Parts: sequence; C-alpha cells; structure tokens
Amino acid sequence: MHPNDSLKNWHEGQGLWADLDSKDWNNWKWQLGNRIVKLEQLEERMTLSEDERVGCLFAKDKLALAITPYFFNLIDREDPNCPIRRQVIPRSGETQISPEEMLDPVGEENTKPVDGIVHRYPDRVLFLVTDRCAAYCRYCTRSRLVSNAQDYNFHPEFENGLKYIRRHSEIRDVLLSGGDPLLLSDRKLDYLLGELCKIPHLEFIRIGSRIPVFLPQRITPELGEILKKHGPIWMSIHVNHPRECTHALREACERLTYSGVPIGNQSVLLRGVNDDTTTMRSLVHRLLMMRVRPYYLYQCDLITGSAHLRADPRKGIEIIRNLRGHTTGYSIPQFVIDAPGGGGKIPINPEYIKEVTDEAIIMRNFSGDEYTYPLNPSEAAKKPKNPKELEPVWA
Ligand SMILES: *Cc1c(COP(=O)(O)O)cnc(C)c1O
Repeated sequence: MHPNDSLKNWHEGQGLWADLDSKDWNNWKWQLGNRIVKLEQLEERMTLSEDERVGCLFAKDKLALAITPYFFNLIDREDPNCPIRRQVIPRSGETQISPEEMLDPVGEENTKPVDGIVHRYPDRVLFLVTDRCAAYCRYCTRSRLVSNAQDYNFHPEFENGLKYIRRHSEIRDVLLSGGDPLLLSDRKLDYLLGELCKIPHLEFIRIGSRIPVFLPQRITPELGEILKKHGPIWMSIHVNHPRECTHALREACERLTYSGVPIGNQSVLLRGVNDDTTTMRSLVHRLLMMRVRPYYLYQCDLITGSAHLRADPRKGIEIIRNLRGHTTGYSIPQFVIDAPGGGGKIPINPEYIKEVTDEAIIMRNFSGDEYTYPLNPSEAAKKPKNPKELEPVWA
C-alpha cells in the first residue's frame, strides 16, 4: 500500500477538545450545539487572514458560518491554504459577484412543481426536506435557501412533497436532499422514509448527505436500524479531500453499508482543494477502502461569490484522463457540469475516440496508443427486445 493511503495515516482524535469527555465528543447533539458559528469563536482558535475576516463578516447575509468541532480539527491552522479550511471558512471572494454567476445556478426554481420538489428528469425527483446542514460549504449551490441567511424562508413541507410523489406514478426514484436530510430527528426520518416506502411506484430512495463527513457521530446504531428498515436506500456522501477520510468517517460508512446502504461519493472540483491528480487519486483510493464508490465529480456551479473556489474544468478532464486505465475502474467518478440555467448534468469526458467511419471506430487507449474496432452491424443487435424480459422476476 502506498504510505499516503495507509489507514494509519488517517486523522483522528479530539484535537483542540482533547480535555472533553469522549462521551460528549461522540454525541452528535454536543457537536451541533458546540459548532463554531461566529468570527470571535474562530479567532479564539486560530489566526485568520484579513481576507477571511471580511468573508466571515459577510457570511450572515449570504450563507451562515458553521463548523462542527470534529471538522474544525481537520483544519491545519498553520496553513493559510489548507484545503479543509478553504471549504468552510468564508473569504472575501464571497462578496464579489461576477457577471456569469447566479443565485440559482442550475435553474431549480424553474422546475419546482411544489415547494421542496425539483422535477427535472423524467423518472426521478429531488426532494428538499430541510434548509439546515451540520456545517456550510462555502460553494453551496443552494446558498439562496440553505441556512436562510438570504431570507428565502424555505419551510420544508413533507406533506406537499409526498402528495406530489404519490400522484406521479412516473417517479421511481426520490433523492432526499436539502439542506442535509440526516439532520432530521430519527422520528422524522423514520416517518418520512416510512411514507415513501408505502408508495408503490417508488423503487428505491436516495439520500444526499454530508453528515458522515461533518458529523460522523450522527450515524448512530439507531439511525442504522431506521435505514435498514426502510430500504433499499442508497446514499451519496460528499468528500472532497483525502484528509476528510478519517477513522470516524470510515466507521460511519461501515455502519451505513452494514445497514444495507450502498454509498457513492460526490466531489466538487475546487481550486486549491482537489484540482490536481495526486490529491484526487489519493481521495478515490481511500474512498474504495471505505467501500464508497466515487460517483460524480462536479464542476463547481456558478453560484454567486464562488470565483475564488472554482477550478478550471480542463483540470477535471485532465484528472479523469490521468486516472482512467491508470488505476481501478471502480475509483473513477463521472465528471459532470450541471448546465448553467437548468440543462441538468452533462458528462464531460476526455476524448478517446479519434474517428468514427462507416467501417470502424478509431480510438486511443489510456497510454495514447491507437486501436481500431471494426463496425459490422449484426442482425441480432437489431432484433427488438421482448418487454416482458425487462421486468424483474419478482414483479
Ligand atoms: C442530480 C439530480 C438528480 C439525480 O441525478 P442522477 O444523475 O440520477 O444522480 C435528480 N434531480 C435533480 C434535479 C438533480 O439535480
């Protein structure tokens, strides 16, 4: 094993809170109640740059500042460019809005049949069930409503959303998001998942959450039981940097997978955080060690005040090119751009096809060598499928 990928290297411990009773430390409610939410609280613990001070003062009108003690410990306080720090400590760049930036960069407001539901794709919906998170990512695509710093006044209404999903039998997949759905109480989650499970046309449920990364203490045995009871549930977590792969995250992922929840990861390509192959390779390797399958790598949305965090999409293409074929196929996420204005996720791939002629596909492999695959449409490929064959045997 490469030394950087060894489990022994993974961060852990109570750090600045070393004197605290570990019972409190491991209690997710203690972590939430003791979040760092004010400039003064940050400055008691570290020296901020002027750039960060300006960012923190602005945060209350844009997207609240909140960092769990657990995640704060992962910051290298001596390093002004620490990749963890860049994700959660505001900077003055948030006050600067460039002309291409938007409050609703992926056009969710235009595909919102009822409050809290985004129905963009034919067979699945996004269901926003809360506007709160355990900590706030400074590049949040939903900063217009998340944390309510902009007075959007989003009041998640389970019943309207549930009603919409019940009425639309074309929906087979519901993706719970927000805000962070795992911030809901066990009782509310149990109710919501239970109601969703009763809907006959739903085939499975997905949860998008960064709680395992910000607040792994929330993944309790009781939560595991609730998820197990209402499956099949898939989860997308959001890890951006290998340093976020701690023992605590690994244990949280283990509990989730043992509760029958397969986990994917969605990363956002961020300037100075993970926009290089070495960092990304280390991240995806660690994810596989935690049984987490890299799912998407997102180009950062054009959210207002994010220019300082957005990486060049060509870097993303280069990273994928440097991974594909060079390492485990399971570890390679799909790089996507969520089209500005509402076109949905568009896959962005390095080009392997050199030419398609009437006779052949001419392509390059991962090391740049050229290969040809002849085209020869066979009769079998044209034969229509019997639709019965496509139904699951238990249907
Ligand atoms: C991302 C997204 C989904 C899920 O897309 P998948 O490609 O199926 O993961 C669904 N609805 C909306 C509005 C989304 O943004």
